[in-house]
Amino acid sequence: MKLKGSLLVAALLSAIAVVLNSGANAAAEPRYQITILYDAFGSDPAMTKDWGFSALVEIAGKRILFDTGDNADILAANVKARGVDLTNLDFVVLSHRHSDHMAGLSYVLSVNPTVKIFAPKEAFGIYGSSLPSSFYRKDESLPPDMRYYGGKPPEIMKFGSAWANARFELIDQTTEIAPDITLIALVSDAPGTKELKELSLAVNTADGMVLVVGCSHPGIERIVEAAATINPRIQLIAGGFHLVAAPDEAITKVVTALKDRFKVERIAPGHCTGEPTFTALKKAFGDKYLYAGLGTSIGIGPNTGSDSRRGEAPTLEDLATYRKLANRQDPFGVMRSRSLLLDSRL
Ligand SMILES: [Zn+2]
Ligand SMILES: [Zn+2]
Repeated sequence: MKLKGSLLVAALLSAIAVVLNSGANAAAEPRYQITILYDAFGSDPAMTKDWGFSALVEIAGKRILFDTGDNADILAANVKARGVDLTNLDFVVLSHRHSDHMAGLSYVLSVNPTVKIFAPKEAFGIYGSSLPSSFYRKDESLPPDMRYYGGKPPEIMKFGSAWANARFELIDQTTEIAPDITLIALVSDAPGTKELKELSLAVNTADGMVLVVGCSHPGIERIVEAAATINPRIQLIAGGFHLVAAPDEAITKVVTALKDRFKVERIAPGHCTGEPTFTALKKAFGDKYLYAGLGTSIGIGPNTGSDSRRGEAPTLEDLATYRKLANRQDPFGVMRSRSLLLDSRL
């Protein structure tokens, strides 16, 4: 009995040691990878393709959800299918206010209601905002019931967010939010998305900058230029380059800039980069083009690749739908591309 008891204690102690050790190992070896959770191309049958972008970025000891896709139910299903844990995040980044990047936020908040969310600071917008009440002109000759707040406005006027209890931190200018982790804040100047603010995630590693972009509305070249001021060595760019409807000349210009001017080492394009741009980048970057379809994990580091399905031809299923959308508001630069084409013909 006594022997049995001490054996049991020994077994328990060794079991505890194993658990503690594995914990220590997990802590000592943080993962360095980008996992695509939302996009319209990919080959994993367990995941649902849809127009939008979301990626789990595990880097510099942090777990960051970059964008949340276009639909909360699809994001939820893809997160489960890929076996990803969103209850344990350091923070979320919403690149910009387009629904294909933020409509999945309600799912994220349902599993992680207190997570910090970085989003661009807009004057008035769905992330909420505030302004000093001195911004509006006063007329003290009016009776109080014709004056805003009866003539006694709060010093700071607050405007609500579409997610009332979410912990937003709004970013107005490029900011280092944690050691070596910078949010690059730029504003689009393109017709159709003029004044749209967008955040890109730039992480400075020992092997150069890792850059994750949502839709690149301000222009991928401008974003890379900003990242290069932190460290001119650009190890990897992943995400949407916003060339989905661009003419060949515009694609060639960007591909040449990325390859020759910025000397980008590896490229993992997705989302609104565009099918002809996938082709052009694949040709230019060869085996430094990392396939980034839905469900893929892209290794971060100079000698790593994507985990599977590299080089497979991407597909785009809802071209017709987004062309329709583009004709209405031009979020994808279709009209702009057409005018560029016309310009180049003149
Ligand atoms: Zn967009
Ligand atoms: Zn987009």
